[in-house]
Formats: sequence, C-alpha cells, structure tokens
Amino acid sequence: MEKHKIKKIAAVCVCLCVAVVAVIIAADLVSSAREYQGSTTLMNTVVSFNIGGKDAKNVGTAVTSRIGKLENASLSRYSAASAVSRVNANAGTFCEADSLVVSLAGRCAELSEKSEGAFSPLLGGVSDLWGFGTQNASIPDNEDLSIALTAAKDGTIETNSNSVKIPNGTLLDFGAVGKGVACDEARKVLEESDVERAVISVGGSVLLYGEGQSFSVGVRNPLGSSNDCIGTLNLSETCVSTSGSYERNFTQDGKTYHHILDPKTGYPVENNLLSVTVVSDDGFLSDALSTACFVLGYEKSVGLLESYGAKALFVFKDKNIRITKGLSENFELSDDSFTILNGDI
Ligand code: AMP
Ligand code: MG
Repeated sequence: MEKHKIKKIAAVCVCLCVAVVAVIIAADLVSSAREYQGSTTLMNTVVSFNIGGKDAKNVGTAVTSRIGKLENASLSRYSAASAVSRVNANAGTFCEADSLVVSLAGRCAELSEKSEGAFSPLLGGVSDLWGFGTQNASIPDNEDLSIALTAAKDGTIETNSNSVKIPNGTLLDFGAVGKGVACDEARKVLEESDVERAVISVGGSVLLYGEGQSFSVGVRNPLGSSNDCIGTLNLSETCVSTSGSYERNFTQDGKTYHHILDPKTGYPVENNLLSVTVVSDDGFLSDALSTACFVLGYEKSVGLLESYGAKALFVFKDKNIRITKGLSENFELSDDSFTILNGDI
C-alpha cells in the first residue's frame, strides 16, 4: 500500500494497543505536522503518546521527561536516588521526601484505612519475595513470607509536612498507583501547552485529555491476547486504569500466581474476578482503586468507589460483567461471549 494511503487510514482511526487496554481516538485528527505518536519504555512498562495540536512533538518529549523524572527522583524502588528508596532505606524513622511522595504516602494510607487493609502499599517486601516480573519468580518460603507480611500488617505509614515514616521490616511500594500518578503528571505538562487533545497510556493507566473531545477506550479481554477487547468505554476527558490477574504472573506446578496480593495471606488474591477497570478524573485514584477493588471484590468495592466519586467495570471469571452506576451507558459490549449482568446498581 502506498505511504500516503497508510497515513490517511491512520488519520481516520488510530489504535493504540497497550499492555492492558487499547485506545481508539474517535475524534477527527489534524494534519500530521501537529500530530505526535510514539512510544517508549518508562516505569517498567510501555508508555504510548498520541498528541494533537501545536508543538505536539515537543510536548511529547516534555511528557516523557516528566514521567522519567517522576520515576527516577520520586517513585522507583530500583533507583537508589529516589525518595521512595530513601524512605525504604530508613524504615523506622522519618525520612525527608519530595512533596509529591509525602502527599501520595498520605493518600495511600487513607485508602488503606478506607479499604480495611485490602489496599496495602507496604507490601514491597512481600512482592519482592514472589519476584513477579523477574527471572526468579517463585512461591516464597513460608517463614520469609510470614515475617514480611506481619511487619506490613502491623504497621502504618506516617507522614508530616516533609517526611514519611514506614514501619521497620516493610518496603513502601507505589506499584499500584505509579502509572496513574504518571497520568496526572502528564496532564500538568499538557495543561501548560497548547495541545488540543492527547491520549497518554502508561501500562494499564490511560489519560484522556482535551476539553470537548470524545474518546473510546477498549477494555481488554482478560482471557485473550493484549489486542483483544471485550468492548469499549466511550468517554470524555478523564483517566482509566485496569488491574488484572493476567498482567504479571508465573506458573509453578500447574498453578498460576499473579501480582495482586491479598494482604491477609501474602498470596495472590483468589476471587471470582479477572479484571477491574476504574474511571476517575484523578489518575492516582483510578489506579489505586483498580488495585483496591480487585482485592476487595465487587460487593465491597461499590461503596468505596462511590465514596471517591469513581466508577468501575468488573470482569468475572464466569465471563459476566458488572458495571457501577452511571457507567453502563458509556460501555458498548463487542464480544457476545461475555454478559452484562446488572446494568446499573
Ligand atoms: P496494579 O497493576 O495497578 O493493580 O498494581 C499492582 C501492583 O501493586 C503490584 O505489582 C504490586 O507492586 C502492588 N500491589 C500488589 N498487591 C497490592 C495490594 N494489595 N495493595 C497495594 N499494592 C499492591
Ligand atoms: Mg493500580
């Protein structure tokens, strides 16, 4: 096919398939000089950009560098210079951190309390024992697990104006919120620019940006490949995050173990869910709540979502779907092997 024809088709329908959700921009696209599409690896995941408007490429570069800084200076547990690494190295004492990390630590502690411990940002040590996403992923030794879990269960995060304290024996892990926070940081860069619309996806979290714009976000089939969607959420500007058991996992002795942990047992959550997709204007909340709701299960999640003004779509192992109040009208099912059970609740 000729090059200009390919470009024309791309201008009609841009499909961004990422690890967890596929995003299709339904709005009309402007000329290619004002378009920037690209992807890179940051925060141990794929970050994809689709930016339309003045200086689109420069804005894309600025977004990349903002997310890179967020990772290296603030959130990463693997960069020794990050605030989180310093907090972890100083467990048991107050440790100075940048204002974003102090605020995130406080917000995580609040969600931990509101979810009655289902959301636990102190499970870093437990996750490390499992080694999800590494070559050495395996079922941890029971005693090691019990030590790391007890420390996380018994303690809480404390914050003051510029410091964070975590309990001895625990490791602060922003793995459940970092990608959503990256969406919030990306939005700040976009707001300082003249771009009209953008879709920035950071692993399983997507920022939909642009006043008056319409977007269709594909919800991945948790039982299929990464390009396979069960339907689309038609939305205006907001954030969407998905947590799923298909994401980081390994199989040992015929059983598959995934990366979302039940803080009561230290083992992967075992319930009737395959994935939870949360829609919230706040990227942090969309990401944090998708993880929390996966752990809590559908019934206990409804009140928590309402208290944060967020909406969600739950996909169950029996191929049923439940959608919380106000989001049903935004969802179009395309795979009729799945069934929407309740509509609104
Ligand atoms: P997500 O993909 O956003 O659901 O985040 C999953 C990540 O959050 C894991 O890879 C862990 O780093 C971390 N995590 C696992 N279990 C929990 C939990 N119960 N509460 C908070 N964070 C968790
Ligand atoms: Mg999350």
